[in-house]
Amino acid sequence: MLKNDLIDQWDRDHFFHPSTHLAQHARGETPNRIVTGGKGVFIEDRDGNRLLDAFAGLYCVNVGYGRPEIAEAIAAQAKELAYYHAYVGHGTEASVTLAKMVLERAPKNMSKVYFGLGGSDANETNVKLVWYYNNILERPEKKKIVSRWRGYHGSGLVTGSLTGLKLFHDKFDLPLDRILHTEAPYFYRRPDLAMSEADFVAHCVTELETLIEREGADTIAAFIGEPVLGTGGIVPPPTGYWEAIQTVLRKHDILLIADEVVTGFGRLGTMFGSDHFGIEADIITIAKGLTSAYAPLSGSIISKKVWEVLERGTDENGPIGHGWTYSAHPIGAAAGVANLKLIDSLGLVKNAGETGAYLNSAMKDALGRHVHVGDVRGEGMLCAVEFVEDREKRTFFDPAKKVGPAVAAALLKKGIIARAMPQGDILGFAPPLCLTRAEADEIVGKAAEAVKDVL
Ligand code: PLP
Repeated sequence: MLKNDLIDQWDRDHFFHPSTHLAQHARGETPNRIVTGGKGVFIEDRDGNRLLDAFAGLYCVNVGYGRPEIAEAIAAQAKELAYYHAYVGHGTEASVTLAKMVLERAPKNMSKVYFGLGGSDANETNVKLVWYYNNILERPEKKKIVSRWRGYHGSGLVTGSLTGLKLFHDKFDLPLDRILHTEAPYFYRRPDLAMSEADFVAHCVTELETLIEREGADTIAAFIGEPVLGTGGIVPPPTGYWEAIQTVLRKHDILLIADEVVTGFGRLGTMFGSDHFGIEADIITIAKGLTSAYAPLSGSIISKKVWEVLERGTDENGPIGHGWTYSAHPIGAAAGVANLKLIDSLGLVKNAGETGAYLNSAMKDALGRHVHVGDVRGEGMLCAVEFVEDREKRTFFDPAKKVGPAVAAALLKKGIIARAMPQGDILGFAPPLCLTRAEADEIVGKAAEAVKDVL
């Protein structure tokens, strides 16, 4: 058997792929792409295809592929000390340095960083810390977490519950108790098209207030949200949304968790999405862009307000009963330090803002008037095209037609990777932050051709 055939067989026989139609894959109906290399915004597969990755993996390879600076930092750390734990005060130079670097970049009210492995476990940590916080404050009833429909916060038990997408709930018996959902700030899909942006923000506020009133503010611990909805459809919030939501949360003493797994470290043209929208969070979730996915690492950035209570809790109860074997893994931390240095030295935050704005405006020019394009939207290096059957009425295509995946597949044939978002016919773009204007032109030109091919 040829080597490639053997790999395909092992893949079908042994490998459980995440987020995959398992039966179709076993029947050989899904693409079997074995990726072998990457440089800048391009990846290569074993069949010699070179593809422009306009989704940066899973919006995580922020500095682009093949950066020797990070590879060398990882190798040096692995040779020196591949592992030591971070329990009971242990650490490595890399983990301590990265904590300092993260805090230097984070909003001013932040105090400490806990390091995990991925976005899901970081949000799991956040929920536990919020519960601990309220127990220390002797508010044992204040435990519910409010998330938004279409939010994405991971796919664990608690985090899959926080996620507001059907695919991640159905047949898994989620969401769990204590997790509630409120209106998504999705202006294009507002319940009444006569609503202005300001009316819609007021509507989102009313929905939240009504939920708080129904449940009782003394039962609600925290609100979690992504500055820009990501996996739920790449949806920037309407103007004034975050200010209005924060006013409600402060009024009811509800903590705010800003899930910056996608928006952290530059994607919106500011270091954090919180900087972009004036969000003052109590906890910030980070992952993806922290290491540009060169090694798995996530974090929970904890504000001074929450930290003081956590410290008090350990004085009263002993060491905090939370930690992973791989918390602050030195190889991940070394990758993070090299990655953050690279983001600075290459000016990637600025480029994400400038080239991202260029990408968004070029996409709007190319596709904004197409008869089946309802909306082209984005912020920084995030962009989405939403397809509709009827532009005026904003009607959805029959889901069986799979319009979003069909356009993504047509685009892939032209050498560009975009993502058909899991709910609705939405094509998402989230390229590495090092994208050039010429590469943005290539994405837009090919996207326009792919839309023409399918619709
Ligand atoms: N939070 C957000 C906003 C995400 O987009 C993701 C993943 O896409 C997660 C959390 C979960 O991160 P992970 O897949 O690393 O567990």
